[in-house]
This record gives sequence, structure tokens and C-alpha cells, in this order.
Amino acid sequence: MFSSVFSGVLDAFSQDLAIDLGTGNTYIHVKGRGVVCREPTVVAVFQNRRGERQVIAVGREAKSMLGRTPADIQVIRPVRDGVIADFEIAEALLSHLLHQVVGRSPVVGPNAMVCIPHGTTEVEKRAMRESAEAAGARVVHLAESPIAAAIGVGMDISEAEGNMVIDIGAGTTEISVLSMSDIVYARSLLVAGESLDDALVQYLRRQHGLLIGPRTAEELKICLGCARPPKTVQTMEVKGRDLSSGFPRSLNLGSDEVYAALADSVRLVLEGVLHALEKTPPELASDIVDRGIVLTGGGALLQGMDRALRETTGVPVIVAEDPLAVVVSGSARMLEGRLEIETTGLRMNVG
Ligand code: ADP
Ligand code: MG
Repeated sequence: MFSSVFSGVLDAFSQDLAIDLGTGNTYIHVKGRGVVCREPTVVAVFQNRRGERQVIAVGREAKSMLGRTPADIQVIRPVRDGVIADFEIAEALLSHLLHQVVGRSPVVGPNAMVCIPHGTTEVEKRAMRESAEAAGARVVHLAESPIAAAIGVGMDISEAEGNMVIDIGAGTTEISVLSMSDIVYARSLLVAGESLDDALVQYLRRQHGLLIGPRTAEELKICLGCARPPKTVQTMEVKGRDLSSGFPRSLNLGSDEVYAALADSVRLVLEGVLHALEKTPPELASDIVDRGIVLTGGGALLQGMDRALRETTGVPVIVAEDPLAVVVSGSARMLEGRLEIETTGLRMNVG
């Protein structure tokens, strides 16, 4: 009796969490509060002579140090293409962000739904699970990102009908076809947000003899990037280092040039989607034509990306309302559904 009342009180303090530890950004959703954390998946560490590492900055602050640190400070991106590449640093990042959102000592460790890319190996799943546990999560469930994305945008994927979700993240573009709450076709392209940044770095080097860093390239992409030729040309001042003189130099770059620099990478994404549609069984493909393609991830925000996709495929394209955080919101919904269902003794197939 006492224990059940007491556990009721404790439950009020337990905070169900959904975590999307992405290549570019980490999102955390807390039940009842919404998406409370959107930080770059970046950690700055100081390494002493004995090789011991000490975290000095996390998230936005660490990202701002990229390319600006002395030799004994490293800026690390612990997730590569959706998979943990540096376990110790991923855990440090998660535990820092979790403490930030749920406080130093949560009374009860929270339940967590953690997103993983489709096709994650058992070893990679274990790394993700252990990383969340070590950071303080009590019970860790795993959700496949494409399913979470679909649930996040409110698609009904339980029917025997085809749905396509395209997530353009930092490292990869994930194209998935879902039916009956499961993934029936998936394809991962290595062309995504960072490839666009790289394309801008290469373009400026080749066409203007100007060397820019990845942060400047990303800023340029976010400000002027477009997937279709711009109707009116906008310009932005870009600062970098002149390749021949070695001195700092700036130039005004137009969005028409940015478009030209990004065109090849954008085309690779469009071709990847066409290929996926060709490989989709005909019944499911015709459902997709009726229901449209849902576009998520930061790359969905590239100007004209939705229209370019629509023009290439002939299929309507719907951009998720908050394309960056839709996966974590969907995971939160899955966790809520799962816990309700588990307490009534039923099981739900949520991946
Ligand atoms: P991940 O899931 O891999 O962490 P996100 O979905 O968080 O990736 O998206 C991050 C990517 O989206 C980065 O490459 C970032 O540069 C890009 N991005 C963010 N905003 C925009 C924008 N407005 N236009 C184009 N790309 C954007
Ligand atoms: Mg993502």
C-alpha cells in the first residue's frame, strides 16, 4: 500500500524522454514540456599530456569552437552517419544535455525512447542503449527513425498502404517506404547536409581561390542555399583565406552561384529518390503517389527542395511542420503509446 502510493509520487517526478542523437544535432523531448533541447552533436575536450580527456564545452558552444582551437583542445563529433563513433564522448554529451533538461538528480531515472537509423547493427544498438543508460536513463527503448518521423507528422502508417518518408540529415539522406507500421524498403544515401557544405567549400576554392571553413559553408547554405535556380539573386559576404596570397579576403557571393555549387549534390538526392520509387513494389508506389512524400530533417529546409522533389517525381511533397524535431516528437508519441500499452499487458510493434 505504502509502496504503491510512494511509487505514484515518484512517478510524478519521473520524466519520460525521447532522444534523437543525430549526426548533426541532438534533440530531447520531455513529456509534458515538448522539445526542450536542440543542440549540435559536438563536444569540445581538453586532452592533457597523459591523454586524459576533459569535456570543456558541449553543443552550440562547442560547435562555435570548430576550427578555432589550440592543439590541446579537440572538437569532436561523436556520431557519424547516425551511428556512435566515439562512445565516451557521446555519453558525455548525452549526460550533459540530460542534466540540463531534467536537473542534476532526477528522483527516478527516466524512461527513454532513443531513435536509431534503420539498419543499425546489434552492436550499434547496444552502444546507443548503453550510452543513454550511462547518461541516466532507466529503461531505454529504441525506435527506428523513419517510423518515428512518420508518427511525428501524424501519418497513419498502421494500414496496409505505402508511405514514403525522406529524411535529409547532416550525414545521410534516408529514404524509407513504410506500410503496416514497418519499413518495407529503405535506402540510405551519403549525400546530405554536410555534402552540400563540402560542395560550397570546393566551389569557392576552385572558382574564387578562396578557402572557407565548414561553419562558413553551412551558414552560406542556410542563408542562400537553394535546390532550384533562384528567381531573384541575393548576395552574402563570404570571408575566407585567399589561396594564393594566404591573406584573409572576402567576396560577395550570389545565390545563383550557390545554386550552381549545390546542383550536383541536390541532383544525387533527387536521383536516389527516383531510384527508390522504381524499386518500390507497384501497389505501394501508387499509394505514395496518392498520399505524397513526407520530407523531414534539416535538409528539408533547403529553399525549393520540396518543389524540386515534386517536379522530379511528379508526387506531392509535404514538408513536416518542424522538420528538424519531428523525429524526436514522433519518438515521444511512441513512448507514450508503448507505456500505456505495456501496462495493460498488450504489445505494440513500434520497431
Ligand atoms: P541529423 O539528424 O543528421 O542530426 P538534422 O536533421 O538535425 O541532422 O539536420 C542538420 C542538417 O540540416 C545540417 O547539415 C544543417 O546544415 C542542415 N540545415 C539546417 N537548417 C537548414 C536550412 N535552413 N537550409 C538548409 N539546410 C539546413
Ligand atoms: Mg536526424
